[in-house]
Amino acid sequence: MKFEIDTLGIIRSPYKEKFAIPRQPGLVKSARARLELQPPYDQPDVLRGIEQFSHLWLSFVFHQTMDQGWHPTVRPPRLGGNERVGVFATRSTFRPNPLGLSVVELHGVGRSRGKLWLELGAVDLLDGTPIVDIKPYIPYADSLPDARGGFAPDAPTPPLCVSFTPEAEQQLQPWLKAHPELRQLVSEVLAQDPRPAYKQGKPDDKVYGVRLFDCNVRFSISEPACQVLAIEAA
Ligand code: SAM
Repeated sequence: MKFEIDTLGIIRSPYKEKFAIPRQPGLVKSARARLELQPPYDQPDVLRGIEQFSHLWLSFVFHQTMDQGWHPTVRPPRLGGNERVGVFATRSTFRPNPLGLSVVELHGVGRSRGKLWLELGAVDLLDGTPIVDIKPYIPYADSLPDARGGFAPDAPTPPLCVSFTPEAEQQLQPWLKAHPELRQLVSEVLAQDPRPAYKQGKPDDKVYGVRLFDCNVRFSISEPACQVLAIEAA
């Protein structure tokens, strides 16, 4: 059977590129996003009662990688990027059907000038991600404290300790007007150590860059420290 499914809405998030997006939702609490509903789903009736829930499940399309196909086995970063496991034993973006599933915080519903949106938090979604379903998170059924986590039993590696150089601190200030959460976002995103698995645990003199909102954040890592070197217009 083949199915056709519709985009219900589009995510507007600070993550403008895949690099440095956390591997799962909930890891970067300050990553706020908006889910803008599209016609014909942009009618208030579809959201009636949703604000009673603190969290939502979002089904989405890995739209940026869907053209790259899939393989029966993948090398998850959690296994150091060397060991292969079956695609269905992972949350890899490269899947036969490029569908993702994330549980996110619901902060409210917004409505203005004919537009309807959900305010979300702790997302792991690229800006522009198409959402194909929305369901409430139901703690009694969805929270399973005794579940086994396979090769990902707990949260990823301990967070890095992020600091800003005086120059980066100065460059940050004007951005805070438009994005008051930017300092927290940069700190939380970089604390996750966004580098590829093969770079971790070794000396690293590279300067990295990541785009968050409309700025480019330059940083370097000498474990367990991460230093923000510059924040520039993208
Ligand atoms: N929580 C989801 C799941 O389990 O299905 C996603 C897990 S996947 C390992 C998380 C990664 O998906 C992020 O680090 C980001 O690089 C990538 N990602 C997020 N949105 C995407 C999109 N629209 N297209 C392609 N990749 C995306």
